[in-house]
Amino acid sequence: MNDAVRNKVAELLPAMIACRRDLHKHAEPAWREFRTASLAAGRLRELGYKLTLGADAVAKKAMMGVPDEAFLKEEVKRAVRQGADPSLTAKMDGGLTGFWADLDFDGGPGPRFAVRCDLDCNDVEETDDPGHQPNREGFCSVNRGCMHACGHDGHVAVNLAVAEILAGMKDELRGAVRFIFQPGEEGCRGAAPMVEAGCVRGVDLIAGMHLGFQAGRSGEIVCGAKGFLATTKWDVRIIGKAAHAGAAPQEGKNALLAACAATTNLHAIARHGAGATRVTVGRLEGGQGRNVIPPNAFMALETRGATSELDDYMTRETARVIGAACAMWDCSHEITVMGGTKSGESSPAMVERVAEIARAMPVFTSIVGMKDFGASEDYSHMMTVVQENGGLGVYIQVGVDRKAGHHNSHFDFDESGLAPAAEVLVRLVYSYLRGNPGEKFL
Ligand SMILES: [Zn+2]
Repeated sequence: MNDAVRNKVAELLPAMIACRRDLHKHAEPAWREFRTASLAAGRLRELGYKLTLGADAVAKKAMMGVPDEAFLKEEVKRAVRQGADPSLTAKMDGGLTGFWADLDFDGGPGPRFAVRCDLDCNDVEETDDPGHQPNREGFCSVNRGCMHACGHDGHVAVNLAVAEILAGMKDELRGAVRFIFQPGEEGCRGAAPMVEAGCVRGVDLIAGMHLGFQAGRSGEIVCGAKGFLATTKWDVRIIGKAAHAGAAPQEGKNALLAACAATTNLHAIARHGAGATRVTVGRLEGGQGRNVIPPNAFMALETRGATSELDDYMTRETARVIGAACAMWDCSHEITVMGGTKSGESSPAMVERVAEIARAMPVFTSIVGMKDFGASEDYSHMMTVVQENGGLGVYIQVGVDRKAGHHNSHFDFDESGLAPAAEVLVRLVYSYLRGNPGEKFL
């Protein structure tokens, strides 16, 4: 098993790199991953996996932060022009780009192991620096304002390789594997509607993997994460009334000042004794012209909490402060939920299993067990639901040398790191799904 998996991964590395570069060149953000999803789904179907797509895989009513219908239609056309399979994108109308792919193994009944992968890129304009590898090698993003600046292009490449290797072990394994390809991880938008559609129903074990992040250089691995911050993302529109700023300011209702009052006073929310909380207004806009009392304002904000309860506390208080600021300035407001996820913690037994596997791989020179994540990732939503149903889950970070931090326009990573990432995932699935059908696995 040892050398066979490593050799197979090494053999697939050039294909993984080619796939990652192709996806990087055609980067697609949340709910617009038509090309990426159709390419991955097509490949899994070729490998013998059974697909669950479109409205069966994404609960439309739970989708958050979705672009408007007309724009999405243009995006499907763009994706098809760039090589997406139209028979697959036809099922993804309206941004239903998430899907899952199932394979039953031949060794009889056993656990169902899900591996989750994110599909989306960031809203980042890629640098035109000629020294940036994607520019040097001709695979920088052709989609303006869209860049894989977090490495999810690499995640798709890795997961497709893992799916291929596991399909080749069909008669050695029992139970089943499910690959969950999730849209809109950025902004924590894609997991909840897929969970609602049933992506983790009947799942006993789940693993998610991120390249880099807390594993900052090649040779490092962080085997599990805890302390995922629960988060909520809101768009807030404040509605006032326009008036002549010189002649009749008394007739106006100043939405811009209401938004400013709300923004500064959000920091008056008392800290919570039970753990870390955050609130950030990342974007604040308002008004129309120099001599008009501003009738409109817009706030893009987020809250976070060390637990789901703490994030609930922050959203409750945030709603109260915004409501009070609007009352003071005699304005009204609307809140649209744009994203959000629960907190979470990897299962210790599964983290230990990953560490055992990593210790047997010479490529890893630094092996860290469970680590505080200190950020949000909506994989935690899927993992938490699996655990609530009695299963186990883990989130693994595989180190890669990087040219710049995640979400930076110069972000790039050492592609040789795709191989150990694939190897860890194959070995992890294998370690749970080999053996006798009757054997206890959790
Ligand atoms: Zn990411």
